[in-house]
Amino acid sequence: MATVTEHRHAATRRKLQTKLLIDGQWRESQSGKTFATLDPCTEDVIIEVSEGDAADIDLAVKAARKAFDSGPWRKTDARDRGRMIYKLADLIEENIDDLAALETLDNGKPISESRHADLPLVIDCLRYYAGWADKIHGQTIPIRGKHFCYTKREPVGVAGQIIPWNFPMLMTAWKWGPALAAGCTLVLKPAEQTPLTALRMGELALEAGFPAGVINIVPGYGETAGAALVSHKGVDKIAFTGEGRTAEIIMRNAADSMKRLTFELGGKSPNIVFADADLDAAVNGSMVGMFLNQGQCCCAGTRLFVQESAHDEVVAKLAAKAKARKLGDPFDPATEQGPQVDRAQFDKILSYVDKGKSEGAQCVAGGERHGDKGFFIRPTIFADVRDDMAIAREEIFGPVLSVIKFKTIDEVIARANGTEYGLAAAVWTRDIGKAHAIADQVRAGTIWINCYDVFDAAAPFGGFKRSGLGRELGEKGLEAYTETKTVTIALD
Ligand code: ADP
Repeated sequence: MATVTEHRHAATRRKLQTKLLIDGQWRESQSGKTFATLDPCTEDVIIEVSEGDAADIDLAVKAARKAFDSGPWRKTDARDRGRMIYKLADLIEENIDDLAALETLDNGKPISESRHADLPLVIDCLRYYAGWADKIHGQTIPIRGKHFCYTKREPVGVAGQIIPWNFPMLMTAWKWGPALAAGCTLVLKPAEQTPLTALRMGELALEAGFPAGVINIVPGYGETAGAALVSHKGVDKIAFTGEGRTAEIIMRNAADSMKRLTFELGGKSPNIVFADADLDAAVNGSMVGMFLNQGQCCCAGTRLFVQESAHDEVVAKLAAKAKARKLGDPFDPATEQGPQVDRAQFDKILSYVDKGKSEGAQCVAGGERHGDKGFFIRPTIFADVRDDMAIAREEIFGPVLSVIKFKTIDEVIARANGTEYGLAAAVWTRDIGKAHAIADQVRAGTIWINCYDVFDAAAPFGGFKRSGLGRELGEKGLEAYTETKTVTIALD
């Protein structure tokens, strides 16, 4: 087992890439501006990164446009596109320790998670979509009259991809995999908090042989680089993961050019524990569902509904586990929880903790900062939470769990659905009828039964209601990067 120092060293073994990737070249931003990316564990600056804005986005989009319209990518055989994606996955696997360490440095997530969860999922996602590249089929359609009619699925064109900081590499893989398999070219704007691993993936993509202009990466801020990508006339589609309020702005700005949009947004996911469940399994699964990645998951099970007769036992077990959770240096392989990503998130989460206390919820674990350096917050559990409290309604995006008591299945279904969100839900029960009733009636894009956070590149993921638009992953995720073309031929 590698030591803390060895893991930390792996992050900076290579010279860090800090420039923009445009048309196969690493360039400084045209303005010459840079921005700092911080280590959330120490609050120190890791390095300055070139700050792209509208002028750089314009160059990147033109490069992607050229690679799509007249460049080699459209002429590359589908199977060879797939081989390049496989090659990228292989290169990531060869560099897995360094990439995991870099992700932990920039984001603060524990090395055990970046090395054994994020990175394997990144590789698996790319390989899954590599296999699709030569299997994107149309149909033949029996229309009236003497005609032969078929459909083709063509790439949507240039994809603008805007991602958040909570899973920087995994979100990159979710975006790149289907886009490249479908034959699109792309411009990625990583989150300003965590640009480093996407840039390293850009280096590996060049090594894998992707032609110039197919993959472009422009780090920068949302209001400048992100907004410029959304309104650029040369972009056909925007794939965005982030906050609902940002998605509203993107939708408005994309309207003029009628861009295709897919959104993966926030949640306030209900996690329902019936008294007949295996309560230890439910408690363990709920801890993962809530506290994985410092609670910074769009699908986190933040509203834990527990049936009355099991309530006190579940709360006691959860509180004991939360108090025993090991916080600390994310490079320590034993660390279970690292710091939140930045000060803004840290402050926002602590303000929700204060709201929970002042609204009368009972704080049974955590409720405060951990240590005095780095953005650490103790895993926090509130009991006696009412549906109308801010901590039960609003997305906190941190390690704060609301436990809510319920009596009957009809009541809990109504209350689970009493939210503007609909990303995920889970149910814990030994009664197959109850499990199916929840799966049937809770309005959410993913339902987990007796498990939580089970992700697979083949299974579609996305939200009902304000949690999203369209789906990522699986065949559905691929469709979002294609247009259907209908071809009709007269037979006489
Ligand atoms: P978060 O609170 O998780 O940072 P955001 O929605 O603010 O969520 O950010 C997600 C991504 O969207 C980031 O890459 C960010 O830079 C980008 N972004 C923010 N505002 C805009 C905008 N107006 N247009 C395009 N992208 C934006």
